[in-house]
Amino acid sequence: MSDYQNQFRSDSEIAFNEEHWQKMNYNTGCYEKRFASSRGNYRNAELERQRAFQLRNRSLLNMEKLLVDFETRCKENGGQVLWACDANDALDMIWEIVGKRHHGVVRSNSTVLDEIGVDRFMKLKGVPLYHSSIGRYILNLVGKAPYHPVFSALNLSKEEIGLALNEHYKLKADSTTKQMVNFIRHQVSQEVAKAQVCLTGANYLLADIGGVVLSENEGNILRSTSTAKVHIVVAGLDKVISSVDDLGILLPLTSAHATGSGLAAVNTIVTGPSSTDDGPHHLYVILLNNGRTELLENEVIRQSLSCTHCGACVSVCPIYKNIGGYTYGTPYIGPIGAVMAPLMYGFNEFAHMASLCSLCGRCTEVCPVKIPFEDLIIENRRLMAERHAGDPRYDSLVRSLVSHCKSRKKMDCPQWIKKMEYKQLVVRSWFTKRTLPEMAPKSFNQLTSPKSKSQQ
Ligand code: SF4
Repeated sequence: MSDYQNQFRSDSEIAFNEEHWQKMNYNTGCYEKRFASSRGNYRNAELERQRAFQLRNRSLLNMEKLLVDFETRCKENGGQVLWACDANDALDMIWEIVGKRHHGVVRSNSTVLDEIGVDRFMKLKGVPLYHSSIGRYILNLVGKAPYHPVFSALNLSKEEIGLALNEHYKLKADSTTKQMVNFIRHQVSQEVAKAQVCLTGANYLLADIGGVVLSENEGNILRSTSTAKVHIVVAGLDKVISSVDDLGILLPLTSAHATGSGLAAVNTIVTGPSSTDDGPHHLYVILLNNGRTELLENEVIRQSLSCTHCGACVSVCPIYKNIGGYTYGTPYIGPIGAVMAPLMYGFNEFAHMASLCSLCGRCTEVCPVKIPFEDLIIENRRLMAERHAGDPRYDSLVRSLVSHCKSRKKMDCPQWIKKMEYKQLVVRSWFTKRTLPEMAPKSFNQLTSPKSKSQQ
């Protein structure tokens, strides 16, 4: 078992923490109410999802051409496009640019920046890194990673945030939410003003105009990109779409699924460096592969690349609600993490992620781009078995159950033998925290055999 899998086992104990469970249930419950009301904005939400599904699939199938088109347009607009094979490659490119400007970097809340490990890298290099989003600012204070792709500080209560602000800035611990938000906004704007370089992800890359789409609710990305002198965009290859016209469908749908709003408050399309004194004079777009071409090769798994990272599937996932965001051990969590992580980070370390699904189908119901999660998870499990990457204890459990089900003699063996076998196999690997139902004294076959009936 890999270190990640051992870590997962111990971290997943959080599922038995009553307080955590209540917090998660309350927060995800609030999201579900907002999400349900946002669907009312659509006359035919299903049709809109179908359109989004087709748009994203078309982009994936034409990805190679669209990326080249994007690069050409972006360069024509005065931007620079760099191609990164993996996270280290992307970090080296960032350092090439940032290394000359040691006056701080401000970053947005973006999963792809977490994927390449920007925070750790900047710390190692001794460059001050500021967070422009309120959630990430709070998490940075308490030294934690995001708990959810959209609601990054979902795991913290108002009281915990108040205590952190009190400890670091002596803000009154009983401050109201409004006071805390105003205080953080003020802090963020001061830090943003100090940064020379702004690092963001991208919601989409537009092949027809070479534009970078940034969608947000707080306006802090826009502020950062307006004051910094250099803007570095890190975007997965999957972010490219054919046309600015596609945004009419994709942006409202993503907002509705991410936060339950009709449209995110601030939507920006960056089409090159600034031509005035204000704003970045340099725009770099780093196109990151990091295992995405491997995902693209598999016809079933490929569909995961159409993800808009709205976080809807995470919010409704029963596994996420129980084990929380940190247990996954990767920036990609919930159902989409279960699909992408084993292929992106390797089956040897992350094969267990493919098991983190009850196949309830709730994620498929809510996904704005109609990713058929059940198919993808089953394909991942097939790959896991093919590569012999599963937990050997689980494999021997399944083999044993299959051999029992195939043998009448074993099915009819005495209750105490079955109990002992269960203890050896099932309880040890699965049910240390659960109580199994008692074994029936007789099998169904024994109960219904003519001999047994005559004795009754
Ligand atoms: S898989 Fe679908 S629901 Fe989940 S984050 Fe991506 S777009 Fe949203």
